[in-house]
Amino acid sequence: MYIVMIASECAPVAKVGGLGDVVYGLSRELELRGHTVEILLPKYDCMRTDHVWGLQVSYRDLWVPWDGGAIRCTVWFGFVHGRKCFFIEPHSAQAYFARGTYYGFWDDPDRFAFFSKAALEFLLQSGKRPDILHTHDWQAGLVPVLLYEQYAGAGLANQRVCHTIHNFRHQGVTGPHILRATGLHRPEYFGAPDRMGDDLDHHAINITRGAILYANFVTTVSPHHAWEVRHTDLGCGLGPTLHRFQHKFGGILNGLDYQMWNPGQDPHIPQHYTVASVEQKAVNTAALRKRMLLRPGPRPVLSYVGRLDTQKGLHLIRHALLYALEHDAQFVLLGSGAEHGINEDFWQLKQRLDANPDCHLEIGYDEDLAHLIYAGADLLVMPSLYEPCGLTQLIALRYGTVPVVRASGGLKDTVFDWDYSERPRAERNGFVFEHPDTAGIESALDRALGLWRDAPDLFRVLVCQGMAWDFSWNHPGQHYLDIYEFIRHQ
Ligand code: ADP
Repeated sequence: MYIVMIASECAPVAKVGGLGDVVYGLSRELELRGHTVEILLPKYDCMRTDHVWGLQVSYRDLWVPWDGGAIRCTVWFGFVHGRKCFFIEPHSAQAYFARGTYYGFWDDPDRFAFFSKAALEFLLQSGKRPDILHTHDWQAGLVPVLLYEQYAGAGLANQRVCHTIHNFRHQGVTGPHILRATGLHRPEYFGAPDRMGDDLDHHAINITRGAILYANFVTTVSPHHAWEVRHTDLGCGLGPTLHRFQHKFGGILNGLDYQMWNPGQDPHIPQHYTVASVEQKAVNTAALRKRMLLRPGPRPVLSYVGRLDTQKGLHLIRHALLYALEHDAQFVLLGSGAEHGINEDFWQLKQRLDANPDCHLEIGYDEDLAHLIYAGADLLVMPSLYEPCGLTQLIALRYGTVPVVRASGGLKDTVFDWDYSERPRAERNGFVFEHPDTAGIESALDRALGLWRDAPDLFRVLVCQGMAWDFSWNHPGQHYLDIYEFIRHQ
């Protein structure tokens, strides 16, 4: 099959969070299985071009109809660690992708609506005719709408779309001007409540809603989250729409790229190890302590790696950190947030604890350090209020770092409590708590720290059981292929 991914991120060239990992990892898996995969991305000025090999102009004058006129684009091609990527660079006064960062602008809906339109225009004009378009999140959510409303008649009639929603909180809710800009006139038709009209704001257009209506199949990133978004408020208003289209909606657990995340050959860590040589992990723990200026000693190292976003249960991360320090454990945190206020709070905490030899906070994005933390820490906390899938816990498991998580979304599908899970003992791999409050996380931390201190042999068994799980792209890759195959013949 010939598959084109259309997304706003792809690791490591343009990555903000898990979306980037998924686009890269799934594409790689599909290629390994003999399919042709190409990835379409915006050409951000801030992307990591050092991860692109052979970057060159692929298509020079792509004129993309926009807002009654047209914007000229250059399309670049390059390999990102073997993946074939096309980068769309618009030349206009709005400088849509030359803003120094990926997201966070008032006109984000315009930027990514333009990208969606440009992606289809590129396929049309360059003569590419993939079997499947796999679009990701609201940033590419207009692709299925535009495909069926505009491009099917122009030459893209045989393409089918699978749309994946990674985060329901961001739906691309915007004004009706987006319809005019993309050439979807008739606002009374497209803005109607049974089309793209937003349920909560009756004057707004909801791009994700459009994607659900028009895509041939819609997925979210774990089975439990697929249930949550239909039956709880985690669908953020889209629950009824998902019910209406449940015949073409499902949850597929994200995989982890086992080549990029492999403690047996990770170039970012000083000591390689596998499940058979897990005691070597201690060398990485020592390196982590040295790098983070922590004192040596027989204490467990707890960690957090991830975006600093309310979704992640920030008050509980903070609580876990202080709790660890009170209980003779150490804590390292690597994270950054899109909101200035949140970063500021963690900066203050960092300053307050600066002289403490048992903890270190690193506010920022650091791929190298993330690998060292996964390899060196004993435990990783993830007290998310909601978590569609979560890759961080999967990486931790792969690196023998025991996850302590709140039972939500993909965390519930992947982490099984050492003491209370209904799974057989040999399959249990972490610690889980139900309620997102301090009592909940404390009870899980007590059990985790207790096992580490009082029963090191059992803790080691737990570590090895976690490492033995297969959360690679192997199963989800096949699952996506089944979906592609199914919609291809519709
Ligand atoms: P989300 O998609 O909500 O951000 P995931 O757990 O699905 O969360 O994916 C997070 C990914 O981003 C992981 O690969 C994690 O290592 C990485 N990551 C997040 N924050 C940072 C950071 N500050 N520095 C380095 N890597 C980070």
